[in-house]
Amino acid sequence: MPAGLLDDLTDALTDLLLGGRCVGCDRPGRVLCLSCEAGLPDRPRPAWPTPTPPGLVTPWAAAPYDGVVRAMVVAHKENRLLALRGPLGALLALAAASTRAREPVLLVPVPSRRASVRQRGYDPTHAITARAAVLLRAAGHDVVARRLLHPRPGVVDQAGLGAAERAANLAGSMCCRTAVLRRLAARHRRASVVVCDDVLTTGATAREAQRALEAVGLGVAGVATVAATRRRLPPPQVSRRSHSADPALSRSPTTD
Ligand SMILES: [Zn+2]
Repeated sequence: MPAGLLDDLTDALTDLLLGGRCVGCDRPGRVLCLSCEAGLPDRPRPAWPTPTPPGLVTPWAAAPYDGVVRAMVVAHKENRLLALRGPLGALLALAAASTRAREPVLLVPVPSRRASVRQRGYDPTHAITARAAVLLRAAGHDVVARRLLHPRPGVVDQAGLGAAERAANLAGSMCCRTAVLRRLAARHRRASVVVCDDVLTTGATAREAQRALEAVGLGVAGVATVAATRRRLPPPQVSRRSHSADPALSRSPTTD
């Protein structure tokens, strides 16, 4: 049995034993009912944040960060609903394929903070990136997922931070370990890299990941995310001081 299918069955059984409801419509049963799954977006789009971090490669998002997709991301990340790994991985695979990166391709998840992984006992971004690679390989592509990036200490949770604060929080916060790179160079000499994340907000996380990969000589072909936040103009009555917090975003997702 293929690894992806076995994982899906295990995830579905675990969620069934725990007693599930659809995260999209609250119907009892599967954590994502067939009708909500059928309604998921299937056309990724470029999702340039405003303002765009200088030098950012094209970011692709499978969906806007709202509705069922937002509920899926949050439930997978915060409530560990593992059966959502499959559909989230499928959305990420669509976005990664849209980058048209030249194969072989390495999907590299942005690193989660060590404290978050310890607390959750699970790294959701790595999990959906690995699933996206399995799905793309099953479709005949030369794609693997590799955890190349590691967080440096001192990065705080990004939720609630504005664009400039996120950029400052993340500057120099990720690195590639030399031993990992040496092994990688032996096996995937000419691979192009796609940075993967669940939600694109200001683009600061993706830009920092791109910087850390380029710093060790890897070519970053694009960014792929499940979803991107919608950007709206701030309401006219808001004062200059208060909308300096994060005017571009409609809401702050629970990103790392
Ligand atoms: Zn549903």
